[in-house]
Amino acid sequence: MKRIGILTSGGDAPGMNAAIRAAVRTALYHDMEIIGIERGYEGLIEGSFRGMDLASVGDILHRGGTVLKTARSERFMTEEGQLEAMNNLEKCGIEGIIVCGGDGSYRGAAELSRRGVPVIGIPGTIDNDMGYTDYTIGYDTAVNTVLDAISMLRDTTSSHERTTILEVMGRDCGDIALYAGLTGGADGILIPELPVDLDELAAKLEEGMARGKNHSLIIKAEGVDISVEELKRELDKRTNLDIRTVVLAYLQRGGSPTARDRMLATLTANKAVELLRNDEYGYAVGTVRGEVIKMPLEKAVAIKREADLYLIPMIDMLSR
Ligand code: ATP
Repeated sequence: MKRIGILTSGGDAPGMNAAIRAAVRTALYHDMEIIGIERGYEGLIEGSFRGMDLASVGDILHRGGTVLKTARSERFMTEEGQLEAMNNLEKCGIEGIIVCGGDGSYRGAAELSRRGVPVIGIPGTIDNDMGYTDYTIGYDTAVNTVLDAISMLRDTTSSHERTTILEVMGRDCGDIALYAGLTGGADGILIPELPVDLDELAAKLEEGMARGKNHSLIIKAEGVDISVEELKRELDKRTNLDIRTVVLAYLQRGGSPTARDRMLATLTANKAVELLRNDEYGYAVGTVRGEVIKMPLEKAVAIKREADLYLIPMIDMLSR
């Protein structure tokens, strides 16, 4: 292929810029043309395209967000929208595209692939909810952002001898809560993959305080079917603790990507361009045990992420 496109779609994730940079510079190195498609599938439908040169990706490696912008596109969910998108690709002579996004964006990419568009997916989402790859671009930065927040919360909760309930992102995946919980020393974590036992949680918190702990932290993933306010109300009924709630929300999506996210973005975007260059497509690129892998898009979309539940007993063991 000689002319390819790249778009970022779904929620923004730190490292998307590193992926754009790697894709653009790999393509230009091989004398391929690369077109930036703005605002994800919306831009594909609107024909919002711009040529990318070496300078266009200068000084973006360390920045969060995405210089190509991102969006969620209702129109792309329809056949009409997808046909319009394909029409624009053809008009512009774009022979294949790289889609950097989460599982929704991959479902969109699989639709395009089924209709004959050469597509490669690279995993860009903080949620880490894609089962075919060990990690997604942005996840490591998000966990580190949560850890920074936990450190700051600890200062005040220990001074006031309080309990904090911290809600983190992740949609239906508990990975951010689980990993930030273990590495941030949480006393309890609530993730969508496990049933919630409020009595057990309350007893654990009370026991800790009785043993002399002067503060405690509960991390709740956003996908758990109880709001932070409801959780506080239920724990208020069962304990005598002074409980506060914090919802981190979009703060977790920003910030300069960690080395690990930049590496993942760089390796997967580079591989995506190499595949298109060799006329190989219809794949999702990711990493498994540190190795860059490719898997048919349809298969990748179908693999559900399994939570690392073996870590739960460790959280209980270490938070005493
Ligand atoms: P994040 O994990 O950050 O939320 P995501 O890629 O999962 O990212 P979604 O909002 O689920 O984010 O999907 C992004 C876009 O992908 C949607 O707005 C829509 O345009 C497209 N999309 C999602 N599902 C489909 C589908 N089944 N068919 C076609 N397009 C889809």
